[in-house]
This record gives sequence, C-alpha cells and structure tokens, in this order.
Amino acid sequence: MHRILIVEDEQDIADLIGYNLQRAGFEVIKAHDGLVGTELALRERPDLILLDLMLPGRDGYAVFRELRRDPRTVNTPVIMLTARAQTEDRIQGLEAGADDYLTKPFSPKELMLRVQAILKRAEAPPGAVDFTYGPFRFDKNSLKFYLNNEPTELTSTEFKLLLFLCERPGKAQDRNDLLRTVWGYSDATHSRTLDTHMKRLRQKLGTYGTLVETVRGVGYCVSQADA
Ligand code: CA
Repeated sequence: MHRILIVEDEQDIADLIGYNLQRAGFEVIKAHDGLVGTELALRERPDLILLDLMLPGRDGYAVFRELRRDPRTVNTPVIMLTARAQTEDRIQGLEAGADDYLTKPFSPKELMLRVQAILKRAEAPPGAVDFTYGPFRFDKNSLKFYLNNEPTELTSTEFKLLLFLCERPGKAQDRNDLLRTVWGYSDATHSRTLDTHMKRLRQKLGTYGTLVETVRGVGYCVSQADA
C-alpha cells in the first residue's frame, strides 16, 4: 500500500484530499504546518508528498529544499499545491525540481490522475537498471548519475530528460515528447520551464554539456557518441 503525506494548513482541503486518497486505497498521513511536515516526511518516509506552498512555520519551498537535501527523502516524489493565480509559483516549483504541481481548486479526479502518474513513474523501469552513454552513467533505480564515474547531482527532472535523450541518440526529440516523458502530459507552464531545466543540466555536465544540442523549432538532441 502506498503511503502519502499531505502537508496543508487548510483543514478542509487536507481532509478532502485525505478522504479521496483513502477511498482510492492509499494510506494517508497529514501535517498542518511546514515544520511538522518536514519531520513526518523524514520519519515516515512516505511514497509521495503533496506539499502546499503557503504554510505556517516553514513555507513549502523551504520544506522542499530540506527534503531534497536529506538522503531519506531526496528522491521522494513531491507534488506542490498552489493557488490559482500564482503561475510564477508553479514555474518556480517545477524549476526547483518538484515532480508536479496542482492548482487549487482541483478535482479529486485530477488529483488521482497526477498521483497515479507519478507513482507509476517512480517505480523502477523494466529492463537494465544501469544505462551508460559515453561519459554518462544512469542508475535508474536510485536515480543516481555519474559523469566519468564521478557521482554528479542531478534533479529527478534533469535525470529523466537526459536519460530520455541518451536512449535516443542522434535523434531530435520534440519538446512535447520531452514534456510528456517527464510530467506525463504537456502544457504551457511546463513548456516554459523546459529550457531552464536544460540550461541547468548543461551547466552540470560541464564540458560535456555541448553533447546536448538545441534543435531549433523542434526541441533537443544528444549527439551520437563516438563509441
Ligand atoms: Ca496554505
């Protein structure tokens, strides 16, 4: 049974989400402020976290950063909950490396679709766990990445984007395909963040960043490695 942590200070929303998740067979734990949320996440090791951004005690971004720094929760999928008008929050959240976001008010159906899509993606993909491409090595189970055998920190989004490209070398990948790979669907907010993710990814790859090419009008491509 998957366990989900809800960090949300608005009791009504937390209860409604909790009710729907439990009805769908999930185990639910709740926190109503950022400090308790962080503590529960580290102690209970949930399979997924729904994280409101505006929280008393410690805001959602601070909670998120703390969870990403701790080895116990570094790979735990996080869906950020944002208010309708805050497009910038959604973009900031995705760029910080959140797995997805939900805009309030959202329907129980939308919630379930996102939760299930993310849990499915979090499961280890079938086939080889290790994938090597030129100087890059991916451990798909732990989402650990090695650059010339040196452990290199990538966000889960950067990891998924680079892996997707490296599994299809020399072929330009359409922006929408990349968006769907990482988030399960494509929309304008995600599209706006894609280039930032790619830019940061290139920086982390150092001199190998040039292997990731921009294909104008299409998307991105990883160059064919010289075996
Ligand atoms: Ca709130």
